[in-house]
Amino acid sequence: MPNMRLTKNPMPSQDPTVRNANFEEVALGYTEEMALDEAQRCLNCKQKFCVSGCPVRIDIPAFIHETAQGNFEAAYQIISLSSSLPAVCGRVCPQESQCEGQCIRGKKGEPVAIGRLERFVADRHNSAEHAEVSVPEKNGHKVAVIGSGPSGLTCAGDLARKGYEVTIFEALHLPGGVLVYGIPEFRLPKAIVQREIEGLKALGVKVETNVVIGRTLMIDELMEEMGFEAVFIGSGAGLPKFMNIPGENLKGVYSANEFLTRINLMKAYRPDASTPIQHGRSVAVVGGGNVAMDAARCAKRMGADVTVVYRRTEKELPARREEVEHAMEEGIRFLFLTNPVAIESNEQGWVSGIRVQKMELGEPDASGRRRPVPVEGSEEDLPMDCVIMALGTSPNPLIKSTTEGLATQRWGGIIVEEETGKTSREGVYAGGDAVTGAATVILAMGAGKTAAAAIDAKLSGNA
Ligand SMILES: Cc1cc2nc3c(=O)[nH]c(=O)nc-3n(C[C@H](O)[C@H](O)[C@H](O)COP(=O)(O)OP(=O)(O)OC[C@H]3O[C@@H](n4cnc5c(N)ncnc54)[C@H](O)[C@@H]3O)c2cc1C
Repeated sequence: MPNMRLTKNPMPSQDPTVRNANFEEVALGYTEEMALDEAQRCLNCKQKFCVSGCPVRIDIPAFIHETAQGNFEAAYQIISLSSSLPAVCGRVCPQESQCEGQCIRGKKGEPVAIGRLERFVADRHNSAEHAEVSVPEKNGHKVAVIGSGPSGLTCAGDLARKGYEVTIFEALHLPGGVLVYGIPEFRLPKAIVQREIEGLKALGVKVETNVVIGRTLMIDELMEEMGFEAVFIGSGAGLPKFMNIPGENLKGVYSANEFLTRINLMKAYRPDASTPIQHGRSVAVVGGGNVAMDAARCAKRMGADVTVVYRRTEKELPARREEVEHAMEEGIRFLFLTNPVAIESNEQGWVSGIRVQKMELGEPDASGRRRPVPVEGSEEDLPMDCVIMALGTSPNPLIKSTTEGLATQRWGGIIVEEETGKTSREGVYAGGDAVTGAATVILAMGAGKTAAAAIDAKLSGNA
């Protein structure tokens, strides 16, 4: 008999007044008792709506069924058939708009906490000892992967399991992409990502860091001189957007990507770190997406008084609801219907404030959301000593210059065949944010999987 309680088991979390001053994980994870209880809320529906909401089609009812029986390792193995990063996805996937958004229990009450169960099962697996993986026999084919974010890691893993000799080339000094340089430690502990990367290395994947494709090496060199028969581009969308308002190049203005990279990848929050970062007292974060929430919550933990400045209302905030609630609980202030028009400086050229303008919502724009319209004569100055721009990112144009004939969209996204990830350049595949623009971890993983299958089909002669 399923458990018909209408609400999810709540996630145990650090107290907001404690966690807003540390970088330890906010959500603490289910206990075994909670996981068993939550799993019993699943109705094991014949028509698996939740699976259709999952971009990599995990057999969710099957893994939850095993969880409800206490067969946690069997549950993990079911998830692993479709996802190579369950401990990551259990933490950062937007389940509310994917699997849980489709869950039948959500019609009357809350959906089954699929993400929390995925995290529980993955953490359980990771905390146990497992037999060493056997390195698959090599099939004689060499593939290069550019970028070590979720798309690159997934593509590399799938190919290595089939015997391909895979080398990942990563521009930064540590692999992991946004999982290590963007998403903060308090949402995704870096040890989890590190473990996934060690798993790939154990399969024989080589990881070459500090190699910028397009500067250190070109795609043409990889293919024509170094013997790689196929290349997967998973270089993400790391180029930040700005507003082009006066004062954006003052000292004390960061793109969210730079601010988060200094904190997460370069550990600026640690007292022993030598990474320079401005410890602003009053920080404005401009934007309303997940990246803005991460930047605001990091700045708060660095000791600042933080204000998120967003030009629409709370209802239109694009960030996950859970992240917004966490930010609010942690004492971050939100100024809605407000837009910066200039950043002001002191005599030394440092940020001293922002000039903002009130907005009101007009007619819907191309995105279907009501367009913010400035209110005449509503400008005011807010004193600030640091401004973080979190307005979105686009693919870095560098990658296009690395080979002839790589077709891209006007905004920089690489053009691919949807079913295979094949680009216009023979032997070159692409996926993740480099193709879609800023999206999600699970979509990037899905794209890495698609491309790995297509590369395998081509190189093994089954295409
Ligand atoms: C702050 C932040 C928070 C986010 N939070 C979430 C979340 O909660 N949930 C979610 O699902 N998604 C989230 N996202 C989005 C998600 O992280 C991305 O969609 C995903 O990481 C894209 O994966 P990817 O493999 O395409 O690229 P990335 O993760 O961006 O990895 C690309 C890698 O390629 C490397 N690279 C780039 N150019 C080159 C080159 N020329 N040569 C060699 N290497 C290169 C980069 O250094 C990087 O390591 C967030 C993004 C950010 C920035």
